[in-house]
Amino acid sequence: MPEISVVVPAFNEQDSLPELLRQIRESLQPLKRSYEVIVVDDGSTDNTLPVLRELKKEYPELKVISFRRNYGKSAALSVGFRKAQGDFIFTLDADLQDDPSEIPEILPLLEKEYDLVSGWKKKRHDPLSKTIPSRIFNLVTSLMSGIRLHDFNCGLKGYRKEAAKSLEIYGELHRFLPVLAHWHGFRVGEKVVRHRPRRYGRSKFGISRFFNGFFDLLTVIFITRYKTSPLHM
Ligand code: UDP
Ligand code: MG
Repeated sequence: MPEISVVVPAFNEQDSLPELLRQIRESLQPLKRSYEVIVVDDGSTDNTLPVLRELKKEYPELKVISFRRNYGKSAALSVGFRKAQGDFIFTLDADLQDDPSEIPEILPLLEKEYDLVSGWKKKRHDPLSKTIPSRIFNLVTSLMSGIRLHDFNCGLKGYRKEAAKSLEIYGELHRFLPVLAHWHGFRVGEKVVRHRPRRYGRSKFGISRFFNGFFDLLTVIFITRYKTSPLHM
């Protein structure tokens, strides 16, 4: 059984995946721990799936899950977590914006003090149309959830197995995983991580992310805190 699982949601990321697999290997091999890489092809319409099939020949640690259609990042993470066998589970975006060499640095934090460590893209390499809404989103989420984080929606996160497996992720809840974990009583921490510009392909979330984010936060509050006491709301 692998000790570490890396879960990667991928929607039309054919050009990034070969380099990503190479970087993951380069970062994890020196750890001398067994690991698996689970890439969830979220109904891609480019060559993501054929590219993954080809990569399997070179990377026996690679496991591929493929959705028949595009179900969204939350669904991809949810299925990836269910499949993951490691005691420590990491998530990375497929587009090379997250740096796999952060994994060995997050691991000791999970071993020592946290159940979930969320990446903080302190210096972001994204357009302003994304970074400004994101700041507001993070501030409001922080105030409403009662957990102080700078960057809730970083693709790079590490989990102890129990934390990842206990999260029920659907809809757009992938933006709130630290909140859900915190409300379950898990110890949630934050670590500044390197962030890189997107090299290939394009972002899958437009300006709609801004509005959807708030509706989703309200939804989370309704379905978690007030589920059994709706009149208190
Ligand atoms: N993604 C996915 N399904 C989707 C949209 C995105 O699996 O429906 C993946 C995507 O391939 C990437 C990650 O989620 O690995 C983050 O997406 P993206 O880079 O477009 O988001 P951004 O960096 O713009 O927030
Ligand atoms: Mg990205």
